[in-house]
Amino acid sequence: MTIQRQLLLLTILFVAACKKDVTNPPTPPAPVDAVFTFTASGSNCSNSIVQGVYTIGTVIGVANTVSLEVNVTTIGKFAISTNTVNGYSFASSGSLNALGIQRITMTGKGTPYIAGTNSFVISAGTSSCSFSVTATDYPLNDNDHMLFGNPSAASFTIDSINNYLMRKSYYALSYSRDRGTPNWVSWHLFDNDLGTVPRQDDFRADNTLPPGWYRVPDYAYTGTGFDKGHNTPSGDRTNTVEANSATFLMTNMIPQAPYHNQTVWSVMEDSLRKLVYDGNELYIVMGSYGIGGTGANGYATTINSGTVTVPASIWKIAVVIPNGNNDSSRVNQNTRVIAVNIPNTNSLNSSWKYYRVKIDAIEAATGYDLLSRLPTALQGVLEAKIDNL
Ligand code: MN
Ligand code: MN
Repeated sequence: MTIQRQLLLLTILFVAACKKDVTNPPTPPAPVDAVFTFTASGSNCSNSIVQGVYTIGTVIGVANTVSLEVNVTTIGKFAISTNTVNGYSFASSGSLNALGIQRITMTGKGTPYIAGTNSFVISAGTSSCSFSVTATDYPLNDNDHMLFGNPSAASFTIDSINNYLMRKSYYALSYSRDRGTPNWVSWHLFDNDLGTVPRQDDFRADNTLPPGWYRVPDYAYTGTGFDKGHNTPSGDRTNTVEANSATFLMTNMIPQAPYHNQTVWSVMEDSLRKLVYDGNELYIVMGSYGIGGTGANGYATTINSGTVTVPASIWKIAVVIPNGNNDSSRVNQNTRVIAVNIPNTNSLNSSWKYYRVKIDAIEAATGYDLLSRLPTALQGVLEAKIDNL
């Protein structure tokens, strides 16, 4: 063969080879899965390091990590995740590029619901171990909206559908999905809350309710003969636009008979704010219970095609203490407590004072434990009083 023929043949072979490569690229080598075992003493992961704060009702994320020791026998890729316990879990993925004892750091995801110690299991192949994380209760600082308790033991767990705890910046509440209203709303009120911001009137659905739950829209009460009755009043949040707007979420509303809302309740709200202007701070809880009220269009048990229950009775309690710090410790047997329970109707005595009751009576009617974080003996005294000032 001449040189020319040899070159031609090589060129043909080269082109053919290249063409084959283009039409049938070789499959890249499969990524190697790392092989490793968790180091453990008994069933517990050894030398696990838990970092971050785990507070119930608070979404966790990149600051919440658990680092575990693994013994790598084959380098390669890995992806691991724990089971979900109490609403949260941990996971990690990536590459293990060195043999022997290495660390894998997993990142948390989810929301711890209930305070307590949670045990997570992690496994890879036949190797597994467990580690514990402690979720703590929400902090109850001075002026916390729930400083004196959680009357119905409401829970952040989304299966607590009719006693679902929502802790917001400007109030806290227990929500009933099936009633479409709060069971109760609790808030602290002091002079910092009172300013000159006008009513925002931006009634709107609460998009922070769990996915899939009916979100009562702003128009749900229209034409029903019942007012959109605030629990935390607009007038108690007038220091900033944000604070005032927060009171217009529909999770803060109940269908309230107009005379009840605009006359009796409104005057009581003014009376409580007057106590703040006089140098006091207040812890207030408002709630409602029962089925059926009488508004401007007569009696109704529900509105908005049955999605919102009209309560039969509406109550409120207020603990009044002079401005100061360490509020829990300043409540004593002489502390003024005000409690009312008023039927949800237009046929009422104009004075809220006519409806004053013992807190014990509201507890009996609702099954709640009000002021539950005060000592039992002190509750006994305060809850048996009827305000007469
Ligand atoms: Mn205080
Ligand atoms: Mn109580």
